[in-house]
Formats: sequence, C-alpha cells, structure tokens
Amino acid sequence: MKIGIVGAGAAGLAALRHSLNSGHECLAFEQTDKIGGTWNYTDQTGLDSYGLPIHSSMYQGLLTNLPKELMEYQDFHYDGIDRSFINQEQVLDYVNKFAEHYNLYPHIKFLHHIIKIHPLPNEKWSLREKNLETNKITDHQFDAIMICIGNYSVPKMPVIRGMELLGDKAIHSHFYRKNHAYELKRVLIIGAGPSGTDIAKIVSEVAEKLYISYNTTFFGETRENVIHKPLVEKFEGSKAFFADGSVEEIDNVIYCTGYQYVYPFLTKECGIEVENRWVKYLYKHIVNVEHPTMGFMGITFRVCPFPLFDIQARFFLEFIKNTSKFSKDEMIRDILKDIEDKSASTAQVHQIGNALHQTYFDDLANTVKVEKVRPVIHKLFQSLCGERNVEKNYRILNDEEFIEVN
Ligand SMILES: Cc1cc2nc3c(=O)[nH]c(=O)nc-3n(C[C@H](O)[C@H](O)[C@H](O)COP(=O)(O)OP(=O)(O)OC[C@H]3O[C@@H](n4cnc5c(N)ncnc54)[C@H](O)[C@@H]3O)c2cc1C
Repeated sequence: MKIGIVGAGAAGLAALRHSLNSGHECLAFEQTDKIGGTWNYTDQTGLDSYGLPIHSSMYQGLLTNLPKELMEYQDFHYDGIDRSFINQEQVLDYVNKFAEHYNLYPHIKFLHHIIKIHPLPNEKWSLREKNLETNKITDHQFDAIMICIGNYSVPKMPVIRGMELLGDKAIHSHFYRKNHAYELKRVLIIGAGPSGTDIAKIVSEVAEKLYISYNTTFFGETRENVIHKPLVEKFEGSKAFFADGSVEEIDNVIYCTGYQYVYPFLTKECGIEVENRWVKYLYKHIVNVEHPTMGFMGITFRVCPFPLFDIQARFFLEFIKNTSKFSKDEMIRDILKDIEDKSASTAQVHQIGNALHQTYFDDLANTVKVEKVRPVIHKLFQSLCGERNVEKNYRILNDEEFIEVN
C-alpha cells in the first residue's frame, strides 16, 4: 500500500517505522525542518518564518512528567542515561537516534505543509501539500493516511469574566517559554494538569507569589510562596476573584487549560467532527469509521505516549489489511459502549488513565491480533498513580517487573 503520514513528531516516526517494516511505500510530510515535533524547544512564539503558527509548546526547565522507561518505543532504548526523569534535549536526542537507527529520514519531506485531504471515489485519498520553500502545491494519492499532528498546539482558553482586559499580562501555556519574565511578580496559574503543575514549579522559583487555581486533584510539588486556590470567577483590573470569596492582586496569568483537537486540512467529506474534546467517530480512538483507511495516532490522553504510538501504529496497519472485517455499525456500537462504560463526558472520551491503561492497550492487540505491549509498562505507569517524583529512578528488569533504584 501507499501510505501518507502527516507529521514527523514522535507519533509520525512510529507510524513511519512500522509502515516501512510492514513493506508499505510511505511518505511523511513535516511542516517544520526537523523531526520530533513538540520536543523541539524554540524561544519563538507566534508565527514562524513561513507564516505558520509555531507548533511546539515546549518550555525551558521542563523535566519529563513520566520516567524515560515509559517514554520508549518498543525495542529501542535510551542509551547512557541513569536518571528516569530527563530533560527535553535528552528526549529529542532519543527521537533523533530512533529516526537514524531505522533510517527514516529519506522517507520524510521536510518543510511540506499539508493543506487539504479528501477521499476519492476510488477509495483512495487525495493529499495536497505545499512546499514551504518554493510555494509549490502538489497533490498526491494514497491508499491510507495516518494523521500524526499532535494535540498540544492549539490552546483551549477558559471563559472568565474580565479576562479580555488583562491584555498581554495573560498568556496560554502554549506561549510560555522562560520564567525570567515573572521575577518577583504575583503570578496566577489556572489549571493543575501536567503543564500547570510543572510551570507552577518553575515560575515559583522566581515569582514573589504563585497562585494556582484548579478544581481537580493536585499532583505537583509546592514551595512556600505557592498558594492553592479554587476556580477564578472574574477579573477586575489586576484583581482576581475566587470561588471561595477571596480576592488577590495579580500581575500575570498563565492559562494552563489544555488544548483543542483541530484538523484544518480535512474536508467535510472525510466525515470527522470535533465536539468539545471528542473527535468522532474513531474506532478504538484511531480509525475514522466513515473511511477506515484513515487513522489518527495519539488522540488518547493520560497514557504513555511513546508505547501508545507503537501499538496504535501496529493496530492500524493490521486493521487496514482487511477493513471489511469491521462494519461501520459494529465500530460505532463499540465506541458508544466505551463511552457508556466510562460514563465519559465529551471532554473525557479520549481519556485512558491508570485503571484502563492495560485494558486499552491489550484490547488493541487482541482486536487485530498483534503483539501486546509489555505488562511492565502498565505496571510502572499504574504505580505512579499520576504522581511524579523527579528524584526517583526506575529500572525495568523484564517484561513483568521493575524496581526503584537510588
Ligand atoms: C509541554 C509538553 C510536555 C510534555 N511532556 C511529556 C512527557 O514528559 N512525557 C511524554 O511521554 N509526553 C509528554 N508530552 C506529550 C507529547 O506531546 C508526546 O510525548 C509526543 O511527543 C507527541 O508526539 P506527536 O507526534 O503526537 O505530536 P507532535 O510532537 O506535536 O508532532 C506533530 C508534528 O506534526 C507536524 N504537523 C502538524 N500539522 C501539520 C501539517 N498540516 N502538515 C505537516 N506537518 C504538520 C508538526 O510540525 C509536528 O512536527 C508533552 C507535551 C507537551 C506539549
């Protein structure tokens, strides 16, 4: 088959490696001049030199929120690093080594931006790309498409009365890069997900006070100058009014309120709709039920992304060998059952989490009969329970066991 891959971040590289391994002819299109997607740190925010929004949401001082033992592709390991929680450069280096090892570069077209994808009557796909260096637009035909564009680039903003008057004192975490702008400031961080807790830690090192506002569980580390707050009800000038009636003077706000799923290049005929944070309808969070030769990698969250990309790519490649095995009705029933079982809102449909990690991965493997991800990956992930202690180090002993080491 001829497979087109959109994006050469960690997911696109896994898709490419497994597609080539299965004997397909494939081409990956990457709009930047590098592999690794969001792991490429840049000082820049806003638009790049080709007028496209900067894709990466990476910031200085980041340590991974998962141990590196859970950030590996199948059978390709980090080399020469003892610590488990590592920095952005180390992850990027690993990704580059992976691409070199499997000789993926010749199959990637850099500075090629996908602008339109639509299904053709002959069951193939038309993919239109723009060469950003020459502005030349080219149409290609593929038998299958793998969408690997990441989900952490288009900010999801909250709606809070008075927020529009904060101007450039307030940014989304996508635009956050360094903490020096917050020296001796009173900073309010909204949201305590992985970015919120991590940015709170980094900014609190230099801020006078750091308020962190959330209505979920807090898994971060705190310092003396960190003050926990409920949700913000409104802003009036430099005052933030909180749900518990307290009011604080603030200098800056960072919205760590997550991201949206956006596919600007898919035409209506592709049959994909996004409702809040639900991309529908995707069988097993991967297969476009309207046109099953289109797969999405990495839609799920609260999961180990690298092992996920591996199993999702292997699932999809096996699935497309015979898409007629699975009827559209059957796939939609499976999706609706999953939502019902999880009692998921539209914002949680693609959430996996600790409890369902192994269930989801094993279900993928069982459905198309491919090799499972090693149980030790799920065991280590589950043992963390969403918590992160960057001082801890882990070693994987075998497919079943890991240990904590000093
Ligand atoms: C701040 C931050 C911290 C994170 N920390 C961790 C962590 O500690 N551990 C972990 O496992 N995961 C972490 N993640 C999750 C991370 O997103 C995944 O690990 C993984 O790197 C995502 O890979 P991806 O390929 O899906 O997406 P991306 O890395 O976003 O790559 C997508 C690629 O697609 C390209 N692209 C997009 N649109 C187009 C188009 N139209 N045409 C051509 N190319 C296009 C982009 O340029 C990009 O290169 C973090 C994410 C963020 C944002």
